[in-house]
Parts: sequence; C-alpha cells; structure tokens
Amino acid sequence: MRPMTPSSPSFGAGASGGKEARPGQAGQAPEKKFFSRRKACRFCTDKVVGISYKDVPMLRNFLTERGKIMPRRISGNCALHQRALTTAIKRARNIAMVAFTEER
Ligand SMILES: [Zn+2]
Repeated sequence: MRPMTPSSPSFGAGASGGKEARPGQAGQAPEKKFFSRRKACRFCTDKVVGISYKDVPMLRNFLTERGKIMPRRISGNCALHQRALTTAIKRARNIAMVAFTEER
C-alpha cells in the first residue's frame, strides 16, 4: 500500500498560527477631514428666525433645477433651518408659488 504523498514543499510549516504583526501597516486608515469644510448655515449667519413661504426668490436658492429641495449636506443648513425651509417650500408648492417639478 502506497500512500499518495503530495510532493509539494511545505512553506513555513512550523510558523503556522499566530498573529501576523506587519510593521508599517498599522496606520493605514486615511483621515478624511471633510467636516472642517462645513459651511455655515445661511439663516443662522443672517439670524433669520422664521423662514417665510412667501419669499419665493429665497426659496428658489434651495431648489435644484428640477425643483427638488437641496439636501442639507449641499446647502449647508443646520437641521433647524433645513426643517423650516422644507416646510416653507412645501407650503409654497401647495399654493403654486414654487413648482413641484420642473419640466425637463
Ligand atoms: Zn441655521
């Protein structure tokens, strides 16, 4: 009886098991400092308390060309003012001062 022994050379048979501590690979995560470029909320800088739905030219600044509301990450508004702006835009849409969608 001849056992079929694989005649492959064993690579590092004795060094199996254990943590591979590679020097120089530890600090691999790049630090993305995007938060430092945070735009200030326009309404906070102007100290606007209430956002009126009647101020259509101002509302249009926060609409895309297709009539969608700008996301906060683009407009840079704070949560409070983005919420107020969204309400104002939706009110303005409802009375047909701002379009729901623009035609393409
Ligand atoms: Zn704000």
